[in-house]
Amino acid sequence: VGGRAVRDIRRDFPAFAASGDARPTAYLDSAATSQRPSAVLDAERDYLEHDLAAVHRGASAATGRSTSRFEEARADLARFVGAADEREIVWAQNATDALNMVALGIADASAGIGGADAARFALQPGDEIVLTEAEHHANLLPWQRVAQRTGAVLVPVKVDVNGCWGADDLAAVLGPRTRVVAFAEVSNVTGLIVRVADLVALVRERAPRAMVVLDACQSVPHRPVDFDGYGVDFAAFSGHKMLGPNGIGVLYGRADLLDALPPARTGGSTITRVSFDSAEFLPAPQRFESGTQPVSQVIGLAAAVRYLDGIGMGALAAHEAAFAERVVDGVAALPGVRIVGPQAGEARGGLVSVAVEGVHAHDVGQFLDDAGIVVRVGHHCAQPLHRALGLTATTRASAHVYTTAEEADRFVSVLGEVRGFFGLGTGAA
Ligand code: PMP
Repeated sequence: VGGRAVRDIRRDFPAFAASGDARPTAYLDSAATSQRPSAVLDAERDYLEHDLAAVHRGASAATGRSTSRFEEARADLARFVGAADEREIVWAQNATDALNMVALGIADASAGIGGADAARFALQPGDEIVLTEAEHHANLLPWQRVAQRTGAVLVPVKVDVNGCWGADDLAAVLGPRTRVVAFAEVSNVTGLIVRVADLVALVRERAPRAMVVLDACQSVPHRPVDFDGYGVDFAAFSGHKMLGPNGIGVLYGRADLLDALPPARTGGSTITRVSFDSAEFLPAPQRFESGTQPVSQVIGLAAAVRYLDGIGMGALAAHEAAFAERVVDGVAALPGVRIVGPQAGEARGGLVSVAVEGVHAHDVGQFLDDAGIVVRVGHHCAQPLHRALGLTATTRASAHVYTTAEEADRFVSVLGEVRGFFGLGTGAA
């Protein structure tokens, strides 16, 4: 990957070091959370040992150093995702938190909070929030809350029998009342990759009053992105899926929008002037970063971005596409195993979810676990999608930079034994 052998890359990750070159546990659950390289752990430790001090508060040299590292990390992240300005990067706890910041800000604006500046976000009863049926609950439940508070209605973009959707499905539901369009760039269940720039162009043409909110949780960690180039209004992603720490995520927003969006959480460090009964908020990003920030996590996330840059996001995407292709081609030959999402020969991100006929995903997961393969089973926080697929649960294998072709083969091979183990036919379906 990026000119390095995966075996060599694995040495960067302490989680894989203990097992040396012996056949280690296959960690195929990076879409849930990724392992972290020493560069990330060391960066956090170095900050904690040498530069730990409050940020943005006080006049000491120590505070100055800590604040510089914190703000340099923001610039690193801005560059990584193609934001024009580092002010467009707001620290959040994770993607869920970032999506809630947008949704709750819109709900507040709809209640008159934020004054004239925020009026552009205000929704009226009957306004439409368009979401695909494939969304993760993190990109669904916050919008349900907005609908409950404002009288806006949720409008689904329908998925096909494999859980996929495209521009035509979106076009079918856009209109003058569409105010929000939210979707994932890469699905955490199907692995479907959508063409964000084309979809944004479609929204601008058919629904000129709509804001586009991108769930970039499964794209930023795995492939090159360009938020400004895409033209999205907001985007969200999590550090822990991109080789970075837990407890840190990012809300990206166009600067003019962030400066007007009411902050969902208020408190210290967000204001210019406070009187006993009113407050004026700073511009973005500070208006959203209330309270003491997760500084060492921010430093660790910047180190993750440097590590990923060293690999090269194009090379990483190609490595993961090869993993997915290997799994899809292998699974396609197994009787009684259904692949959800793009089928053999179609592009997908580095994850593959399957349903084994006659065996519950939890039993599949247990069987794989007994064979030393870690996967995710269940509804993957996407119950409406599973319902649309006629399933209650699936089994997902997902990759990152350290995943080997041998692990892909091992997954396919053990999966091929599952139905036989449970007394079901293994002959041709
Ligand atoms: N959206 C997608 C597509 C995801 O895969 C996830 C994580 N499974 C989330 C949102 C939520 O991320 P987090 O739990 O880190 O907030």
